[in-house]
Amino acid sequence: MTDQEIPKCKHCDADMKKWQPPADSTWSAAFLWVCFNDECSYFKRGWDHMMKTQEAKASYRHTLNPETGVTGPLPCWSYDAQKDRIIGE
Ligand SMILES: [Zn+2]
Repeated sequence: MTDQEIPKCKHCDADMKKWQPPADSTWSAAFLWVCFNDECSYFKRGWDHMMKTQEAKASYRHTLNPETGVTGPLPCWSYDAQKDRIIGE
C-alpha cells in the first residue's frame, strides 16, 4: 500500500477520486477521497433519507480523509454537485 494507491469505496467498490475541499471548509486535509459513482448504494440511499428526515432534495457521497482515515458524508444537491472540485484525471 503506497500513498498513490487509489482506495475503493466500501459501499460500491468503485475507485474513489481526489477531491479538493473549499478553502473555508472544516476539513484540514489537502484533499479527500470521494466516491463519485452515481450508482453507489450510499449515494442512492441518501436521496430518500434526506427527503424523509430533512425534506430536502439532496444526498451525500462517501468520503475518506487520507490523513486521518476518517470516513464521512459529502453533501450533494445534484448528481453533478461537487464534481468541479475533482483533482486530476
Ligand atoms: Zn461508492
